[in-house]
Amino acid sequence: MQELISDISVDVEAARLLTWRVADLIDRGLDFATAASQAKLYASEAAVRAANNALQVFGGYGYIDEYPVGKLVRDARVMTLYEGTSQIQKLVIGRALTGVSAF
Ligand SMILES: Cc1cc2nc3c(=O)[nH]c(=O)nc-3n(C[C@H](O)[C@H](O)[C@H](O)COP(=O)(O)OP(=O)(O)OC[C@H]3O[C@@H](n4cnc5c(N)ncnc54)[C@H](O)[C@@H]3O)c2cc1C
Repeated sequence: MQELISDISVDVEAARLLTWRVADLIDRGLDFATAASQAKLYASEAAVRAANNALQVFGGYGYIDEYPVGKLVRDARVMTLYEGTSQIQKLVIGRALTGVSAF
């Protein structure tokens, strides 16, 4: 249980820091496009991992509709799709790091 909860906490803190980094870049008037893609990619994938870990904490009860955790799994998964899928975020980040557009 503690491993699952510990992993969730690390993912949450890392996602929060990446998001705050984007906000800081915006506040300072700096380019934030790559940082935004990195934050969106990490935070949305972290949300999926966190929701899956939360479901695992509940065991079988996590899967059935009587508890809200199953809904959290589905709600988290869509975040890796809208506003640019994870694959597209990686293409955006890869283009910024290499100068090569693989779109
Ligand atoms: C609940 C929800 C709300 C949404 N709200 C909005 C909204 O408010 N405004 C809006 O504009 N859109 C919205 N969308 C659309 C969303 O942004 C698109 O689903 C998203 O852009 C992906 O496009 P697609 O579904 O056509 O998938 P496709 O573009 O058909 O992609 C299918 C799969 O192929 C992958 N893929 C595509 N191209 C490449 C590539 N070149 N290299 C590698 N992999 C690739 C994708 O990552 C994805 O996994 C919403 C979607 C959902 C599910």
